[in-house]
Order: sequence, then structure tokens, then C-alpha cells
Amino acid sequence: MKTADVIVIGAGIVGSSTAYYLAKAGLEVTLIDRKRPVTGGSATQACAGGVRQQGRVPVEIPLAIYSINLWTNLEAELDEDLEYRQDGMTVVTDDEKQIPLLADRVEREQAQGLDIRLVQNSDLQRLIHGLSPHMLAGSYCPTDGHANPMRTVNALAVAAQRQGARLKWNCAAEGFVVENNRLMAVKTARGDLGCRHAILAAGYWSRAIAATAGINLPFQAHPLQMMVTARRPHELDQVLGWVGNGISLKQMPTGGFVIGGGWPGQANPQTYHTRLMPGSMAKSARTTVGLFPSLAGIPVLRAWAGIEAFCEDEMQVIGPVPGVDGLIFATGFSGHGFAIGPGVGCLLTHYLTTGKLADMLAPFSIERFST
Ligand SMILES: Cc1cc2nc3c(=O)[nH]c(=O)nc-3n(C[C@H](O)[C@H](O)[C@H](O)COP(=O)(O)OP(=O)(O)OC[C@H]3O[C@@H](n4cnc5c(N)ncnc54)[C@H](O)[C@@H]3O)c2cc1C
Repeated sequence: MKTADVIVIGAGIVGSSTAYYLAKAGLEVTLIDRKRPVTGGSATQACAGGVRQQGRVPVEIPLAIYSINLWTNLEAELDEDLEYRQDGMTVVTDDEKQIPLLADRVEREQAQGLDIRLVQNSDLQRLIHGLSPHMLAGSYCPTDGHANPMRTVNALAVAAQRQGARLKWNCAAEGFVVENNRLMAVKTARGDLGCRHAILAAGYWSRAIAATAGINLPFQAHPLQMMVTARRPHELDQVLGWVGNGISLKQMPTGGFVIGGGWPGQANPQTYHTRLMPGSMAKSARTTVGLFPSLAGIPVLRAWAGIEAFCEDEMQVIGPVPGVDGLIFATGFSGHGFAIGPGVGCLLTHYLTTGKLADMLAPFSIERFST
């Protein structure tokens, strides 16, 4: 059996960026996927494309800042148009009681090195033309932005291949061959693939694969919905969020408004099939108009959903797996993994080339569940 340095399981944003950085560093990499990159039903294909640092749990902010530094150069590096725009994001509120909480978060994130500030009243209206006049304050981070998930993940997989990675589609991982606590191979539907390391980046589906090695990933499948509207002349540069209202709104370079924010759909993770919930679409549309009134009456052209792995504590699981030498997790991104995907791939490459796990990944170890 031929042995690769690393097999990356799953070609979403996390697996594709990891394969890219590993191959670029000169490791022999095979990237496998049960279907192919941006498979319908997976999280990355459904993603809203928000590339934000703000509004994360404090332990995630360093990883987000690190990742955004990679994003700013990613189009040039991959030589592809990823529709990446770094025009800022503002999370607004119309509730006076929320303003001190927003101010506290801004202060905490500033202390962590993020370029972010509180903007209020007429300054807020000047910053975002078309914003509802009811909005009182917002947290504005000029280095947040958005990108096109399909373009990004495809560009990363293609660039990984250019750097020498092997891509194997329709190759589902089924488990691991482990001898004396050492990973020997990944079992797949197309035979065993020998490897020194395997990185499990199969989103929600990582749970079943990890279970074959006796590891319980405390994940649930959450199907989340998205909508895109008809095109309009350019009106909105920033990404907008609204505290407590489950909305993210952005206008794509092509003119359509992408509406997300975590409204639930329905799904069968075994078949990847998702179903839209009309109630979610209606609430999402109403919230959008409350935030950005000029969108009243704009036609919704398309809606879809994708299955995201939500970890019990809503933080991803990243890093080596104790008891199985050579197995590494990069999974369970709980609704916010697109922005940090490149950072994770780059830091795991650093780990495999130096043997040192970056401090900023330490909070995400599977060991946090061992107690
Ligand atoms: C609607 C929605 C909107 C979102 N919006 C944002 C956002 O604006 N910003 C943000 O940062 N994050 C966002 N997220 C979260 C983000 O999309 C995910 O955290 C991220 O895409 C997870 O990527 P992944 O590579 O871990 O998993 P996935 O994209 O789910 O990829 C997993 C891959 O593994 C493959 N696979 C499954 N089983 C096997 C197997 N047995 N063998 C081999 N391969 C297998 C699948 O086919 C799939 O390609 C959103 C998520 C959703 C659902």
C-alpha cells in the first residue's frame, strides 16, 4: 500500500484550504471527498460568504484576525477572482438596552487587536446609506468583508492540485486503520489509503467517521437557509448584521443581495437533501426590510440550505487526537467556519511541518470534552 504524507478528508473550505497550504509546503497530500468540492447540502456551498472577525467568542478572535490577513492576499496568491471585498461589516441595533453590551464587546475586541469601533446615531446613518432610520448604534469593523464561497473553495482545490496534491472525488472515507495507537490508513469506499497523517474535515459527516475510531464528536446537524434577491445597481458596500435578529445582509458584486443569518431549514444528512421552510423565508425577508427598507418588494430569485456541524459548545474541534497518533481534527465549525478556514489550513500546515501547534488553536482541542 502506497503511503501519503497526509490525507485530507472532505473538500469544503476547511479541507480544501488545508490541502492547498500542505501541498504548497511540499507535503505529499491527497484530498478526498465523498462527492466533490462544494457538494449540494454541505456547509460551504450554502454559506453566506461572510469573512468577519467581530462578534466571535474571545478565544476565536486571534484565529479570525490571522485568517483575515491571509484573505487579503488570497486572490493574488491563487490567481483567481474570489469576489472578495473587504468593505467592512457593521452589526447594528435599534434597542437602547443593547448599546452598552455592544460597546463592551467593541472594547473587548479592540483590546484583542481588532480594528473596530462603535458608531452611533447620525454617524451610523452616514456610514451606511439606506440603513433603517430606527437603528441607533453599530459595531463597525472596516477589515471584515465577504467572498464567494463556491469560487473560493474551487480555487483552493485547483491550486492545491497545481501544487502537487492529488484530488480524489467520489471517494468516501469509511473509517481508519489504527495499529498500536498509530494511524496507518484511511479506509475508503475505494480501498485503504495509507498515510502518516489524516485530517478529518468532513463537516457534520466527520461525526460518523470519528465514531469508527471510538471518538464521540458532540455534533448536531443544523440545516441553515439562505436567499438571494434580484440584481440592483450597487447600494450596499458593507455586510450588515442586526443584534438578536438573525440576519446577515450583503450585496454581491453581481448586484444580488444575499440574505442569511441562521434561519433553519430541514435536512437529511445521510442523503445531503435539504428542504426550505417557508416560515423561515418569510421571517428572514421581513427582518431584511426592517434593516434595509429599500429592499421592500425586491424579488427573491433563489433560496437554498446547507447542513452545518454545530458542536455542543458552538466551537470547532481542531488539532491532534489523543490516543490516535497521526489523526487530526478540523471540523464542527458551528456556523462561522468560512472566514477562518484559510487560517486553520495554514496553522495545521505549520503543525505538520514543525510539530508545534499554534497557541491560538489550543482552545479548540477535542480534549476540552474529556472532563
Ligand atoms: C447557510 C449557511 C451560511 C453560513 N454563512 C457563513 C458566513 O457567512 N461566514 C462564515 O464564516 N461561515 C458561515 N457558515 C459556516 C460555514 O459555511 C462552515 O462553517 C464551513 O463551510 C464548514 O466547512 P467544512 O469544510 O468544515 O465543512 P463542509 O463545507 O460541510 O464540507 C465537508 C465536506 O466533507 C465531505 N464529506 C462528507 N462525508 C465524507 C466522507 N465520508 N468522506 C469524504 N468526504 C466526505 C462533504 O461532501 C463536504 O464536501 C455558514 C453555514 C451555512 C450552512
